[in-house]
Amino acid sequence: MKTNRFIAGLFSLLLFTGCYQGDSADLIIHNAQIYSCDESFTIYEAMAIRDGKIIQLGPEREILNGYKCDHLIDAQLRPVFPGFHDGHAHFWGYAKTLAQADLTGSASFDECIDRIQSFAETCETEWIEGRGWDQTLWDPAAFPNNARLNELFPDRPILIRRVDGHAALANQAALDLAGITSATVIEGGWIEVIDGNLTGILLDNAYDLVAGVIPEMDPDTKLAYLKRAENSLFEVGLTSLNDAGINHEDRELFEQWYGNNDLTIKSYAMLFADDENLDFAKTEGIKNIGNLHIGSFKLLADGALGSRGACLISPYSDLTDHYGFLLRDSAALYDIAYFASEIGYQVNTHCIGDSANRVMLKIYADLNQGKPDHRWKIEHAQVIQPEDFAYFQNHHIIPSVQPTHCTSDMRWAEQRLGKHRLKHAYAYQTLLSKTGMIVLGTDFPVERIYPLETFYAAITRQDREGSPEGGFYPDESLSREEALLGMTIWPAFSNFEDQEKGTLEKGKAADFVILTKDIMKIAPSEILTTFVEQTFVDGECVFDGR
Ligand SMILES: [Zn+2]
Repeated sequence: MKTNRFIAGLFSLLLFTGCYQGDSADLIIHNAQIYSCDESFTIYEAMAIRDGKIIQLGPEREILNGYKCDHLIDAQLRPVFPGFHDGHAHFWGYAKTLAQADLTGSASFDECIDRIQSFAETCETEWIEGRGWDQTLWDPAAFPNNARLNELFPDRPILIRRVDGHAALANQAALDLAGITSATVIEGGWIEVIDGNLTGILLDNAYDLVAGVIPEMDPDTKLAYLKRAENSLFEVGLTSLNDAGINHEDRELFEQWYGNNDLTIKSYAMLFADDENLDFAKTEGIKNIGNLHIGSFKLLADGALGSRGACLISPYSDLTDHYGFLLRDSAALYDIAYFASEIGYQVNTHCIGDSANRVMLKIYADLNQGKPDHRWKIEHAQVIQPEDFAYFQNHHIIPSVQPTHCTSDMRWAEQRLGKHRLKHAYAYQTLLSKTGMIVLGTDFPVERIYPLETFYAAITRQDREGSPEGGFYPDESLSREEALLGMTIWPAFSNFEDQEKGTLEKGKAADFVILTKDIMKIAPSEILTTFVEQTFVDGECVFDGR
């Protein structure tokens, strides 16, 4: 027995020296628990990296003996994961919040007003923008109106968006600049008028009327905010994101910035289907510029549930005769999806209500004939009729969901939907069982940027305070392994990026994070006090919290 082991040892030693003698590595991570997220969910002790790629993984001694390397990181048994990938986010939307009044978590509209007043003192621009108010946290839980803002700011325009981005409040100065009157009508949106007077509440496309007259930030200032945002994303362990909706002006800027390597985080840019973007897609096709990957469209079928803009098959349970609405009619949605299928672009469509989901699933199914691997996504896939889950399975449609939406919405979702419909809402495990894959994200800045909060919400279906006990519809929770794959390889796969990243395997990009605690083993409550120690993109450390 001993002799056998000796011979085996000698043999493997010869094998190493034969293979690796003289090989060098730029970086070795060792004494680690490396969750590769490969097919067999292999855990390694060490990995070697060269030119931004993983060149080998294996046991401690094999890697340390196999490579010449001046840069070793002893992980002290800490866990290493593939860099986290947010499957649905708004990069510029988040960066912009760094230049806006932060209204998230305000316990009342009065608190919002206080925050706006103190923000106004240091705000250098004429317009004051804010983001994050949520009337469901207030008593009463009703939309605000602009009366107080008009008193306090008669001449300075103000536009503050609801947390979901689908509703906003504008003061009279802002409404005047946008030319909105009580007679203004807008398709795919809504302007609230009570007793003949504007209240300042704007839904969906109505918001754009006001947002459209706010002077644009100059590109250099924009880039400076994006870089600040990028640092915050690295700090929480994100190395990739799906940027869910880019107009052509921003697409041109991102092309320039990524072309100059001004930005590093890997971005899968979903283009809004404006005329210039449609032209671009037709002439340029799929494009990779630095770490920017362009090859898909973002469509919006409906709005959000919180502001009752989600399009439902039966009326809202708390507003009879109100069904929400489609933001574009189904023929227009079909035309863009058809165009995409002709030029080999992917389609990712925002669908919240069961009606919006059904409309889009039918369009995808129709265009899926003969194209089994198009990896088109439904963004949010929030409320689904039971019979419609089969579309995901039969037509390889990938759901992209946000577990923290579930734990934010759970306080009021039943009021909007009623018990029966709620059973088929936020149904992540059901979706996964149909498709074998589910993409996870945050939709930041709608939710916070933290991927570990996504992981926690997906496995517990609880808010950060741990309620409700046992979780909200716990049958729909994901296992830790499923949640991890949903934040790494599944989004990469859904973007056709799985050959380059998403797992820690030989030949793939060295995008990874080292965490302070092993989220695969610790108690769920400890996940929220786990931190990112270091983040690497292409083998380069982009965040070091040690
Ligand atoms: Zn979004």
